[in-house]
Amino acid sequence: MGKHLVLVGGGHAHLTVLLNLSNFVERGHRVTLVGPSPYHYYSGMGPGMLSGIYRPEEVRFHGKKMAEDRGGSFVEDRVIRINPGQKTLILQSGNQIDYDVVSFNTGSEVPLKSLISAPRENIVPVKPVFNLLQARRWIVPRLKGKEVRCIVVGGGPAGLEVTANLWRLVKDNQGKARIILIAGSRLLKGLSERVRTLALESLSRRGITVIEGKHGREITGEEIRLNDGSSLPFDIVFVALGVQPSSIFADSGIPAGPDGGLLVNPHLQSVAHPEIFGGGDCISFAERPLAKVGVYAVRQNPILLQNLLAALEGKEMQTFIPQKDYMLIFNMGDGRGILWKKDFVWEGRMAFWLKDYIDRKFMRKFQVSGERKEKE
Ligand SMILES: Cc1cc2nc3c(=O)[nH]c(=O)nc-3n(C[C@H](O)[C@H](O)[C@H](O)COP(=O)(O)OP(=O)(O)OC[C@H]3O[C@@H](n4cnc5c(N)ncnc54)[C@H](O)[C@@H]3O)c2cc1C
Repeated sequence: MGKHLVLVGGGHAHLTVLLNLSNFVERGHRVTLVGPSPYHYYSGMGPGMLSGIYRPEEVRFHGKKMAEDRGGSFVEDRVIRINPGQKTLILQSGNQIDYDVVSFNTGSEVPLKSLISAPRENIVPVKPVFNLLQARRWIVPRLKGKEVRCIVVGGGPAGLEVTANLWRLVKDNQGKARIILIAGSRLLKGLSERVRTLALESLSRRGITVIEGKHGREITGEEIRLNDGSSLPFDIVFVALGVQPSSIFADSGIPAGPDGGLLVNPHLQSVAHPEIFGGGDCISFAERPLAKVGVYAVRQNPILLQNLLAALEGKEMQTFIPQKDYMLIFNMGDGRGILWKKDFVWEGRMAFWLKDYIDRKFMRKFQVSGERKEKE
């Protein structure tokens, strides 16, 4: 008899399952996708969407349509609790969904609580990536007036790309802006010194101020207070202080890793509940911590496809073996990129060309629901 598979979050790790959803349906199973929006935005092209290098319809997947066109159903809602004993999911709307097998791909969020007391439209966490589109819509009309004061807090890869692409947004709209990146102790801490130097040079060439050795402490009114007691005024501030999974697993009494992610074995299966799976930023891989990068989410796709079907039908599962090193290419917003893999660093137009090629190829594979014909 067919079973019920629930996919929570249509993020990067679930795309292959969604693409092959009819396989599940043809075998008599029901599949439901739950997500807060019909769309999912691809983070790798998010900063480029902020600058306008990419149009929103080039950067998003229509998860709802992808599921429904293949015989699944879509529920626009958010899972807030799991009841593993009864195999039910509690949704924000108050509704419940039963499952036989459930897979989580709910991603991660920017921890904001220590920084702000109330959300505002000019305080922009860099996740979800849709926020970058809203920020673009907020900034563009204001570029016609006086200088726009933009601050980015967080000196990791996301903070760097957002800063660099803000510059492009201002330039292409013939606006005036002052862009400051508050990088914490060091820009791109933990990456190679060469990458750091190239990034710093690229930003300073364009008149962007990078503040190192200071941290954002509190965002109040229209200014950000730093740990040395000074403060900086802003019109818009982007928060890129790293990411963490939501507390949904720990809140539900399901074993979670130190970062709060669903603790999974190499089958991407909860260490305590064999019918619960997960992939992407929301999991904590028990064997070793994995960086919160899309590369792992993408590589987990075929494993989840195989193992979810195996869990429904009592078959053999595949093992996820994470790659040791991965490549990152930063979109520097000026048509150039910085590629970094282990000891190899490469900067220039070709590096961005490669990133653009890889990203567009990825989008072509999963944009199967007429996304590109849509209007913004
Ligand atoms: C600006 C930026 C640029 C980046 N660039 C790169 C890059 O170039 N390369 C790279 O490897 N990594 C990059 N990353 C990291 C990358 O974003 C993450 O590793 C990747 O998004 C993880 O994918 P995911 O599918 O796990 O999560 P997400 O992409 O966050 O997807 C999670 C999905 O789950 C949904 N969801 C969330 N909560 C719930 C809930 N409670 N119930 C139901 N659904 C829910 C969300 O709506 C979303 O659709 C970047 C990150 C940022 C912020």
